[in-house]
Amino acid sequence: MKMADHSLLIHNGTIVDGRGAQPVRDGVVLVEAGKLAYVGPAADAPHVPESVERIDARGGTIMPGLVEAHFHATYFNIAALEDLDIKYPVEYVSLLASVNSKLAIECGYTAARSGGCLFNVDFWLKKAIEEDLIVGPRLSASGREICSAGGLMDWNPEFRKIGMEGLVFIINGQDDARKAVRALVKDGVEWVKTYPTGDAASPDINDHHTLCMTFEEMNAVVSTAHNHGLKVTGHCRATEGIKNALRAGYDCIEHGTFMDDEALDLLLQRDVPCVPALYFEKASVELGPEFGLSQRVIDGHQETLDGGIESARRILRAGGRLGMGGDYGFGWNPHGDYARELTFFVKDVGLTPLEVLTCATKTGAEIMGRSDEFGTLEKGKLADVLVVDGDIIADISLLEDRTKFIAVMQGGIIKAGQLAKSFPTVVKRER
Ligand SMILES: [Zn+2]
Repeated sequence: MKMADHSLLIHNGTIVDGRGAQPVRDGVVLVEAGKLAYVGPAADAPHVPESVERIDARGGTIMPGLVEAHFHATYFNIAALEDLDIKYPVEYVSLLASVNSKLAIECGYTAARSGGCLFNVDFWLKKAIEEDLIVGPRLSASGREICSAGGLMDWNPEFRKIGMEGLVFIINGQDDARKAVRALVKDGVEWVKTYPTGDAASPDINDHHTLCMTFEEMNAVVSTAHNHGLKVTGHCRATEGIKNALRAGYDCIEHGTFMDDEALDLLLQRDVPCVPALYFEKASVELGPEFGLSQRVIDGHQETLDGGIESARRILRAGGRLGMGGDYGFGWNPHGDYARELTFFVKDVGLTPLEVLTCATKTGAEIMGRSDEFGTLEKGKLADVLVVDGDIIADISLLEDRTKFIAVMQGGIIKAGQLAKSFPTVVKRER
């Protein structure tokens, strides 16, 4: 991804640095060669010549670009989970993923960790973004997901002869698990997404169902993935499934819904981050009837919501790490609504705005393994900066409104927001 070759001064804003430090009023951020050269009070800022381009933050907020920690670029705002395996071919899914990536940038998300994708779209999407062919978040790619036969993502009865090859590897046993991971290694992904437990959204496997994958299968996934330098995460709601995943050596826990004391201890022992993705549950409860979800499924989502809120609070209070990612890409939880997760965590979970912003920036970058490059506003890091017309500490829901963004920047280049210029299409030659 290209970096700015000229200097840039962002002034007249309150700095929220992503580390949880108290906001700095009348702050200044100086960008040189795409990186942060100064972050701090205007009074202490180095002298900058008049010729340097200036961005007036209008008394608003200057903060790190947001990190979506559970991003599904290829989930196309589906009306039902089943749409994923039958509705569109890979050609159209790829185009939609490109549109979703542009939208993520417009929404202030300059980086994203994938929570699973159709076919191997993420890997190629990441390449197109890094080569500046399209705009999108800096991406940690996942691939096709891994689920045991009969588990959460294996819903087609045998007579339909649908293999689901674009969506998941359906495995039986440890050999299949290793084979699936090795295919993902060849695909070039960074994360292996698995389905250890059930979910309220599934018609026949509820979210207390643990054995969607056996411990032995999970162990085989982790050892093979780690052997190749890949990281493993999983959809973990049921208590025993969370513990199995942590004991098997998972690098991240998605949802972590029903944590007991032992599960929390296991999580904290290795400081494994958790991405609750809770607004999805609230949206499922509120809009489920419109999308034909049954009352049983909606009740399941309510239980998941209550359990997930309790677990998220306990994790953060015990010193654990939470990433902010919302599982967007469903009809009731569409792409573009990403920052609703942040508002939800302030209003419904009870975290402070500063806590939530740290989760949504610094912790997200840590989950991606790139916290030395971005995620906070610190000298030497990439100038991935969001400039918002408004005080987001007073009202975090301002982040839901992309018309409020003055600039969304990656490496000092303005990619979206009011100051964005349109970019000419790059003609790419094959080599
Ligand atoms: Zn997901």
